[in-house]
Amino acid sequence: MGLIRILGAGVMGLSVATELVSRGHRVELVDPRPDPGPHGCSWWAGGMLAPFCEGESAEEPVERLGLGAIDWWDRHAGGVHRRGTLVLAQARDRSELDRFARRSRGHRSLHAGEIAALEPDLAGRFTSGLFYADEAHLSPRAALAALHQRLQAQGATFHTAPPDTTPDHIIDARGLAARDQLPDLRGVRGEMLVLRCPEVTLSRPVRLLHPRIPLYIVPRGDGVFMLGATMIESDRRGVVTARSVLELLSAAYALLPAFAEAELLETGADARPAFPDNLPHLRRRGATLFANGLYRHGFLLAPAVAAMVAEHLETGAAPEFMDEVLL
Ligand SMILES: Cc1cc2nc3c(=O)[nH]c(=O)nc-3n(C[C@H](O)[C@H](O)[C@H](O)COP(=O)(O)OP(=O)(O)OC[C@H]3O[C@@H](n4cnc5c(N)ncnc54)[C@H](O)[C@@H]3O)c2cc1C
Repeated sequence: MGLIRILGAGVMGLSVATELVSRGHRVELVDPRPDPGPHGCSWWAGGMLAPFCEGESAEEPVERLGLGAIDWWDRHAGGVHRRGTLVLAQARDRSELDRFARRSRGHRSLHAGEIAALEPDLAGRFTSGLFYADEAHLSPRAALAALHQRLQAQGATFHTAPPDTTPDHIIDARGLAARDQLPDLRGVRGEMLVLRCPEVTLSRPVRLLHPRIPLYIVPRGDGVFMLGATMIESDRRGVVTARSVLELLSAAYALLPAFAEAELLETGADARPAFPDNLPHLRRRGATLFANGLYRHGFLLAPAVAAMVAEHLETGAAPEFMDEVLL
């Protein structure tokens, strides 16, 4: 198939590169900032590999396409924790839990004793919950670094500007920066916090349902937790607002008052690249194939989208999310 150039080394570009290299293809990546870092949306992700929980609010393909992500990340990056997801609600928000259960699959109901057995720090705080045993999580920053290192070791090259080569195919995986070519791409702002709270031990992501401020907490190990994430129709990146910090911390405190003693290590925000239907799409224009629109499912869907890119390049067949050819 010749040389394939990938523009963008976020989770989309790195996953496409990994899939192609694993199939024996030659790849070069171009990104003005090719090392994983806070310049890309992928840096701020929670790293939940939660196809069933996401299926509660997402379109049907998200659960189906996301099911293979856990094994893919294990195979290519490692560091996957297969401990499931715990979903909880305060007693007054019980209807939220019932609605979540009705709208998602892959869970079983828990009573207070079972919640305490899974997460002893939550003992006595919640009377019922849902457990999604087949879900997993990873540290996005470690996973991006692992893909980057393995690609380099396997001969993929990284460049800050297009090198003097003649690629046979170009994959545009620039995330929101590709709006210059994809006018219907929009940003959905997400804000997150990182806390250190050695007093708290959680083994798995915990989602606290709330009609206005849903929260998830992802353990990063060593008493560090990622709290996320707001969903705001805005492409504003950069600093987190006081309101969002207040709301995320209040929700964490409602989950477990011990979070009041936490150190606030980090705040961050970025805009998720999304198409109008909040699903990923592939589009072709000449020699360039655009892979974009991962929305809030970057780590969950990038493996499936990467496989579609590879199959399209290898066979010419149009995969499920291939749009019309652009003129
Ligand atoms: C707070 C938050 C929490 C999230 N949590 C989760 C989660 O738990 N699970 C999950 O699956 N997803 C999550 N997401 C969503 C996920 O982060 C995004 O879907 C994903 O990062 C999008 O990846 P991308 O590679 O398309 O874009 P980016 O990560 O933005 O990568 C684009 C890359 O293109 C590069 N670039 C820009 N311009 C150029 C150019 N001209 N040439 C070449 N390269 C260029 C940039 O430097 C960047 O490296 C979350 C997002 C946020 C904001």
